[in-house]
Amino acid sequence: MPINSNQSQWLRGWIRAALISAAAWLPLSAQALNIFACEPEYAALAKALAPNAEVFSATSAMQDPHHVQARPSLIAKLRNADLAICAGAELEVGWLPMLQMKANNPQVRDGKPGMLYAADYVEAIGKLDQIDRTMGDVHASGNPHFHFSPTRIAQIAAAISDRLILLDGANADHYRQQQQQFRDRWQAAQQRWQQQAAPLAGIKVIAYHSNFAYLFDWLGIEQIGDLEPKPGLPPTTSHLSQLLALSKQQTVTAVIYNGYQDPRGVDWLSQRTGIPAVRLPYGPGVDGIDDLAALYDRVIADLLALL
Ligand SMILES: [Zn+2]
Repeated sequence: MPINSNQSQWLRGWIRAALISAAAWLPLSAQALNIFACEPEYAALAKALAPNAEVFSATSAMQDPHHVQARPSLIAKLRNADLAICAGAELEVGWLPMLQMKANNPQVRDGKPGMLYAADYVEAIGKLDQIDRTMGDVHASGNPHFHFSPTRIAQIAAAISDRLILLDGANADHYRQQQQQFRDRWQAAQQRWQQQAAPLAGIKVIAYHSNFAYLFDWLGIEQIGDLEPKPGLPPTTSHLSQLLALSKQQTVTAVIYNGYQDPRGVDWLSQRTGIPAVRLPYGPGVDGIDDLAALYDRVIADLLALL
């Protein structure tokens, strides 16, 4: 049956409408990026900056990011990733190179736009000029546990956003919008945290490893002792005795550790000194904490509760 002019006009209009609506959603859904984050803090940032992406975190906040098994599921995730986001500064040196090799994904090799190390965009604290074997498992390139530094998080977020635009230019405007929203929310929150946390300045704590060093640095908290006798080593009896002596000489507000650290040394010290042991949430995805802002809220509240 021949198509009359009314029908063909209707058909052309329909096709045009269909094309326009397809164009509106295609760039986002057809090119949804696969993002592989080494730690949950970078997964949370990726979700905020690229809400349409498929985001996967290799570790949870209850897992030690220094030591991770290169499991087949992780290899498969990295193989399909368009972008990998990791702390860098040797935090993942024990497992990521192996994962990159086995995943065999040229996109996420070091130096490629698909591989982003946060450490390349921030100044690390605690860099060491000289190291030797006697020092333990030190972070020679500086402390890679950046995610409790609000200024560094803002810098890392900007770097991630730039990278998203580079990898997925069709959605550049969308990423710019997300980055601006994140930046505005983060700036406002930072002022709130600064005010709330003011009473914490000057308190002394004993903590486990350098996981919270950026938090302490930011809020003016002094870590006078470390549960680890040397970085990466568990507390020994003699080291704990030294900490016990130290905590009798000074006013220590808390012994702080995180969800993946062994509480035995912490409890031992806490029981003998009466200093409260405080397990702080270490990343988004635990204790009902969805994102980095909620993590900061909770950690500051937990510390204020000690005063
Ligand atoms: Zn570390």
